[in-house]
Amino acid sequence: MKYKRKRILFFVGQALFILGIVSFFFFARNVTTRENRAIVINPDNCYDQTIIMVADRDYDPYSFFDSQGKPSGYDIELMYAIANQMEVNIEIRLMNWTECKQAVLSGKADIISGLDYEKPTSENFILSMALHNDQYVCFGKENFSSIGELYSKKLATVEDSGSFSVFLEPYRLTENTRVYSTYTQVLESVISGENDYAISRYYVGRRILAKLKETKVRPVNTFIANNSTCFGLGEHRAELLPELDNAILSMREDGTLAALENKWLGSYVTMLTPQDFLRTYQNGILFGIAGFLILISGIVFYINREKIHAARMEQEDTARILEYQQLITEATKGLYESIYEFDVTHNRAVGEHTEHYFESFGIPGTTPFDQALQVIAKKQIRKEFIQGYLDTFMPENVLRAFRKGETSLGYDFMITQDGINYYWIHISARLFFWNADKSVRMILYRRNIDAEKKQEQRLLDAAQRDSMTGLYNKTAAESLAESLLEDCRHSGQARALVIIDIDDFKRINDTFGHAYGDSVIRIFAETIIANIRKTDIAGRIGGDEFLILFTDIPGRDWLEFKLRKLNQELSREVTADNQTRQFSASIGAVLIPQVGETYAEIFKKADLALYRTKEAGKNGHTIYAEGM
Ligand code: GH3
Ligand code: MG
Repeated sequence: MKYKRKRILFFVGQALFILGIVSFFFFARNVTTRENRAIVINPDNCYDQTIIMVADRDYDPYSFFDSQGKPSGYDIELMYAIANQMEVNIEIRLMNWTECKQAVLSGKADIISGLDYEKPTSENFILSMALHNDQYVCFGKENFSSIGELYSKKLATVEDSGSFSVFLEPYRLTENTRVYSTYTQVLESVISGENDYAISRYYVGRRILAKLKETKVRPVNTFIANNSTCFGLGEHRAELLPELDNAILSMREDGTLAALENKWLGSYVTMLTPQDFLRTYQNGILFGIAGFLILISGIVFYINREKIHAARMEQEDTARILEYQQLITEATKGLYESIYEFDVTHNRAVGEHTEHYFESFGIPGTTPFDQALQVIAKKQIRKEFIQGYLDTFMPENVLRAFRKGETSLGYDFMITQDGINYYWIHISARLFFWNADKSVRMILYRRNIDAEKKQEQRLLDAAQRDSMTGLYNKTAAESLAESLLEDCRHSGQARALVIIDIDDFKRINDTFGHAYGDSVIRIFAETIIANIRKTDIAGRIGGDEFLILFTDIPGRDWLEFKLRKLNQELSREVTADNQTRQFSASIGAVLIPQVGETYAEIFKKADLALYRTKEAGKNGHTIYAEGM
C-alpha cells in the first residue's frame, strides 16, 4: 500500500478513536444521570367516597415505604391518579402479600395492586385490565443450562406469588421451593446460600439487589415466564370495575401510564450490571475499540515505516560503500591508472586525491567540476575527442543520464601527458545516490587501453590490406577513394585518379612462373608507394592492376610530370630467381577538377585513358581528355 494512503488511514483511525472515546463518555454520563423523578402524583382526597387499597410492603419499585415512611412506588402513584380520575378518596395500606390478599377477600379492603393476571391464582378477585408486563426471572450466583437442572436445586419465592401458576407448578418445581413473605427475604436467602435460586419479578429483584449492594447474585439465563400485572377488586366492589378500567385506559392514552413507567421502572438503569452496560452501549464501545485498534495499527505502521525506510537506506549505503571500496582496491592493484570522485549534484571534487588531481592542472582543488573538466579536456585530450568527453561527463549530462536510470558511463579517447604523444584510455564512471548529503556521486576511473586499441586497429587495417603488397585491397581502395572524393568535392582542390596496369603480365606468368609474377607485382607496388604521399591512396584493384588517388595536386603539369616519372620507374629490369627481364606499365589518368562527378564516372574515364595507352603500344600514359 502506498505510504500516503496508510497515512490517511492512520489519521482517520485517530479521529475515530477520539470520536469513540467521546461517544463512550457521552453514553456513560447518560447512564448515571437517567433518574427522572419530575412526575409526582398525589391523591386529591376531597370526595365523598373512600376506597382502600392494599399492596405488598416490600415490592419496590411497585409498592414500598419511602424514606419518610410513606407508601411509594409505581402502583401507589398509579392508584392516586386513578382515584383522582374516578373522583374517590384513596387510602393505601402496605402489608405482607398474604395479608394483602386476605384483606381484600374478607372485605376489609377494596382493591389490591401487584396481582398477576392469572385466573387460577387470582380466581377470587375481579381483575382490572393489565397494567404492565413484568417477567419472572431466576436470580442466582451461577447460570444453569436447562430447567431440568433446577430439580436438584433449592428455590425460593414469595408466598402466594404468581410465580407458582406461571412457572413452579407447570414445571412441578413446588417441592423444592421455599416460600417467604417478602422478596427481600427471598433474595437474602440466596445471597446467604440457604437457597440456590430466587424466582422473582425482574424489576423487583434488581431493585432489591441494588439496595443490598449485592453483585454475586444476579439474573441468570433469560426470563423463565412472562406475566401481566393488574389490580384486583374484591367481590363486594365489583361495580367499580368499569370505572377502574376506563381510568386505566384513559391514563394509558394520555401518557400518564408511560410517564410513571419511565419514572419508576425506567430509572433502574443506575443499577445496570457490566453485562447490561455492554449490551446497551455496545455500539459506542465497539466504535471506541475499533478506533483504538486502527490507531494502534496506524502507530505500528508508522514506526515500521520509519524502520523499513532506515533499513533500506542503510542497505543501499552499505552496498555503495562496498562497491566504492572494491573500486579502490582494484585501482590499487594497478587495474586502473587512477580513480577520482565527484559530487555531481554540487558540482565539486570529493576528497583530497581528486583535488590534487585538479591542482596538477594548475587549477585550485575547489574549482567547480564542470570548469575543471574543460581545463583537463583542453590540456590533455586529443582535439577530436574533446566534445565527446564533455558530452559524457559534464554534470548536467551525468544528472540527466542518472535520472534516466543509468548507473554507469564510459568513453574511449586519446590523451597526452607530454603534449606530443597520445595514447588511448577508457574512462568508466559509476553513478550513485549518496544518501548522507542527498547527492549524485560519480566515481571515475581510467584504464590505459592503448595496447588493445592499437591491436584492434592493426586488425582493422589488415582487413583492408592486400596481403601480397600491403596496399589497400580493391574494396578498401575504392571506398576510401570514393569517400575522399566526396569529402573534398567542394574544396576546389585538384585531384587525380590513376590506373596502372602491368604490360603483358600473362606472358610473364606463362614464361617464368607464377612466383616470379608475384615478385614483379610486389616490386611494382613498392615503386608505386615510393611515388605517393601519405595523404594519397594507393591500392591493388586487380591481378596486375593498381589505383592511385592523388589529392591536392598543383595541376595538370604536375600530373604529366608525375606520370612520366612513374613510367620511367616502372619500366625496369626485374631480377628474381636468377632471371632478369625488362617490364613496363601502362597508365591511364583523369584530372578531377569537375564538380559533381561520381567515383564510378571518374573511374570509367581513367579506364578509358588506360585503354588508349595500351592501344598506343603500352609503356606510356594517357590523361583523359573530353571527347576521347
Ligand atoms: P596487357 O598488357 O594488355 O595488360 O596484358 P596482360 O597479359 O597483362 O593481361 P591482363 O592484364 O589481362 O592479365 C593479368 C594477368 O595477371 C592474368 C592473371 O593470370 C595474372 N595474375 C592475376 N593475379 C595474379 C597474381 O596474384 N600473381 C600472379 N603471378 N599473376 C596474377
Ligand atoms: Mg596487364
